[in-house]
Amino acid sequence: MSKKFVGAHTSASGGVQNAVQNAVDIGAKAFALFTKNQKRWDAKPLDAKTLDLWFKALEDSKIQPKHILPHDSYLINLGNPDEQKLIKSRMAFIDELERCEILGLDRLNFHPGSHLEKLSAAQKRDEVFLKEVEDKCLDVIAESINIALDKTQNVKAVIENTAGQGTNLGYTFEHLAYIIDKVEDKTRVGVCIDTCHMFVAGYDIRTRETYDKTWADFDAIVGRDKLMGMHINDSKPPLGSKKDRHHSLGEGEIGLDAFKFIMNDERMDDIPLVLETINSEIWKQEIELLYSFED
Ligand SMILES: [Zn+2]
Ligand SMILES: [Zn+2]
Repeated sequence: MSKKFVGAHTSASGGVQNAVQNAVDIGAKAFALFTKNQKRWDAKPLDAKTLDLWFKALEDSKIQPKHILPHDSYLINLGNPDEQKLIKSRMAFIDELERCEILGLDRLNFHPGSHLEKLSAAQKRDEVFLKEVEDKCLDVIAESINIALDKTQNVKAVIENTAGQGTNLGYTFEHLAYIIDKVEDKTRVGVCIDTCHMFVAGYDIRTRETYDKTWADFDAIVGRDKLMGMHINDSKPPLGSKKDRHHSLGEGEIGLDAFKFIMNDERMDDIPLVLETINSEIWKQEIELLYSFED
């Protein structure tokens, strides 16, 4: 019996229950979804009929809540330096957590946030200056998480590592550890590692040696008990390019070996392993491919 739970970020168009069916249709044992339109601030509450359909679909699917990794809206920036915009983001984030709670889910995946400062090339090269700007934003993000966890129950905040594109933070293990360190309730915070983001942020996983080194660093800096989900993507751009562009497995710069290591790594047991690769037509085959990698 495999301890790996592989799936994809399926479409919830027409209702959250459809994300379950779309997962079942591709042979997924895990999935991710948006519980509302990810490009809009507002959303109508989940109604009784939708919830009935959701719980029925979930029961039929045999997929467990801990293997479902909802993703929050792309509009939310928990590190926004503008106070009004920050308040708006924090309210929307709390709403997202509440929606997960209503759906019986136990974790919410989100990107930490962006500092949005317009830095000169010289400022970007100035490590001390840059760290100050980043730490200030990471403090705001941690505070946002504390406020949201305080106002909700049970659902865990799962911080995703980022590619480091633009002013997005969370592209180093140190960023993730910094935030977690400032979150008061450590039982309700974890991380989701996206293989494409990790790779373009400079963490190599292509060979046995680099894979082991990168994950040993993760264990030491973040802690393996904090890993609550993964996004399984190959990468179009090369190592360290800080560009967020996913590719189908084996088609990109990472190559298949890294995914073989993942499928045989006990760190990834019993958590959602979610494809966000670019061709949803072949997700079923990609899921089969990943399971074929198990020893
Ligand atoms: Zn991702
Ligand atoms: Zn991405």
